Amino acid sequence: MFDPPEGEGFPDPFAGSEAAELDAKAVSAWFGERKVLDRVSLTMEAGQVTALIGPSGCGKSTFLRILNRMHEMVPTASLAGQVLLDGADIYDPGRRVTLARRNIGMVFQKANPFPAMSIYENTVAGLKLAGIKASRLEKDFLVEDSLRKASLWDEVKDRLHQPGGGLSGGQQQRLCIARSLAVSPRVLLMDEPCSALDPTSTRRVEETIASLRGLVTIVIVTHNMQQAARISDTCAFFLAAHNAPGAIVEHGPTDAMFQYPQDQRTSDYVNGRF
Ligand code: ADP
Ligand code: MG
Repeated sequence: MFDPPEGEGFPDPFAGSEAAELDAKAVSAWFGERKVLDRVSLTMEAGQVTALIGPSGCGKSTFLRILNRMHEMVPTASLAGQVLLDGADIYDPGRRVTLARRNIGMVFQKANPFPAMSIYENTVAGLKLAGIKASRLEKDFLVEDSLRKASLWDEVKDRLHQPGGGLSGGQQQRLCIARSLAVSPRVLLMDEPCSALDPTSTRRVEETIASLRGLVTIVIVTHNMQQAARISDTCAFFLAAHNAPGAIVEHGPTDAMFQYPQDQRTSDYVNGRF
């Protein structure tokens, strides 16, 4: 359907549209001298939903940004360890950043559509950045398909050419999800995507996540324990002791972690005791 991106080496080592396994191996991170993550190892299985939970400041967002090479955009940031996408190191020096980004989409807490750009153009705005060329017909298809997957199509199909900035907050967030999905990512990273949303929009986003299970690997940071329990297959609990870097205390199947936490600190956290 698409022309290959210009100027990239071929074949794309991450090519494919199926959900991919993401494997973090002993990932540590620093901002300047300050270590903020300590040897985090976590396998995020293909097609599953992995929830990252833990108090503020324990490095969840930093870990998520490491998974799509955004961490390195901070001038003081450094990193150790490996991130493998279906076994291929996304930090391999011979590999372009765009190849990782194209396969690993990201949605942030604050919806960030281009406000003056139409809903239609917002939805396909990621294609060019990902080096994907599409005809008008292909774009028409992608816009409907992505907006349907993001549970937004019915609400916007009659006003696709109106500005994205005119949508409600919850609709803007779903527009950002549609924009991420339009490039057919194999992994979708979501950093507290519902924390600024009303309950109805939150439910819609959760429906979208449920419908993507098996098709896209999802890693979601959430402070809402009920949400983690509802939507995730696997859960990882991050914690940073005072002045110490963040680390994973415990991870495993969500049901087991909520019902039989192995560590007292996990039990306290999932039961709202800190
Ligand atoms: P969380 O998402 O779990 O709340 P973060 O990953 O945002 O945690 O932050 C982890 C630690 O790294 C915090 O102590 C935070 O202050 C620090 N930090 C985050 N971003 C930066 C940055 N750009 N420069 C310096 N320190 C940062
Ligand atoms: Mg955060």
